[in-house]
Amino acid sequence: MQIERSGGPGQVRFQVTEVRVKLTEDPRNKLKAYASVTIDDAFVVRDLKIIDGNKGPFVAMPSRKLADHCKQCHHKNHMRAAYCNQCGGKLDPERAPRDGRGRARLHADLAHPINSQTRIELHKAVVRAYLEEVETQQKAGADYQPKDFDDLDVLNDIVDAEYIEELERRQEEREKRRREQAGHAGEGLASGA
Ligand SMILES: [Zn+2]
Repeated sequence: MQIERSGGPGQVRFQVTEVRVKLTEDPRNKLKAYASVTIDDAFVVRDLKIIDGNKGPFVAMPSRKLADHCKQCHHKNHMRAAYCNQCGGKLDPERAPRDGRGRARLHADLAHPINSQTRIELHKAVVRAYLEEVETQQKAGADYQPKDFDDLDVLNDIVDAEYIEELERRQEEREKRRREQAGHAGEGLASGA
């Protein structure tokens, strides 16, 4: 889908020129779709995710599971691992870094907006494309043809329930910050990455 540049000059310094959406198949899945976005006809970011949150769909950026090195053998293990995959040494499964409320942070975004205006623009473009794709699917019914997505189908890493929870928490925290910042509206760009 093509999106027109929104906002005046200097307001939005990039343009999402294309969004491609691949819906997930199980309607019970909180992960509703994968998306790729093209910025300024020049740069593509893939593996964004559209999550069905409590307050409607939101966008999660491509991410990786955090890992750290075993002190004994230096092998990389996931933060929740209780034993090293390589040497079997005991690990603390609670060693992951914590957020402000003491909850484990197990994933890090690989690409992401660095201010809230860019985040909002990106979010709007992706959610709009997602809703359009859902509508296309509903209209087409059994004749629905998912978009050709090159090799993105095989890229699917496992999105576990714990990660969805972490994403929802982060989204709620962002919304909370946005509400708090609403009191200071009109002071230019707020940093909300
Ligand atoms: Zn080890």
